[in-house]
Amino acid sequence: MSIDEDLVRQLSEQLGFSRLLAVAYVNAGGRCEYCGTDLLMARQGYAIQEIDHLVPRSSNPALADHPLNQVLCCRVCNGVKGHFHPAGAGEIEREQFNEQQRREFLSIAREHIASKMHRYDESWRKATQLLQEVWWKHGKYGG
Ligand SMILES: [Zn+2]
Repeated sequence: MSIDEDLVRQLSEQLGFSRLLAVAYVNAGGRCEYCGTDLLMARQGYAIQEIDHLVPRSSNPALADHPLNQVLCCRVCNGVKGHFHPAGAGEIEREQFNEQQRREFLSIAREHIASKMHRYDESWRKATQLLQEVWWKHGKYGG
């Protein structure tokens, strides 16, 4: 992985980003690596940026500070993913954790998050419809 070290240093020095956050930021292009949300597009996105451990720290403390195990993401995806382990369970050897494995794990984690998000879809649609109907009637939208 070739990384723009100058940019990493600037993020660290000027914004106080940890090295791991700065590296994750640069590698991810400022987007949530799970849902693709541009975390720089609006202040709200920037405010909910987090670093997830792709392979959870709880089961793999040896990977906690591994640069490939850091995933720039939004708070929603991180919360939905929780302690999900992309390999199911077990220890991943630090020496064997590489970019190929990271790509596979990212893909598995994205599918996991998307499937959990779908559970909210019907409730979200109904809530939106119901609230908008009521608020239109009662003038929340400028009436
Ligand atoms: Zn996200």
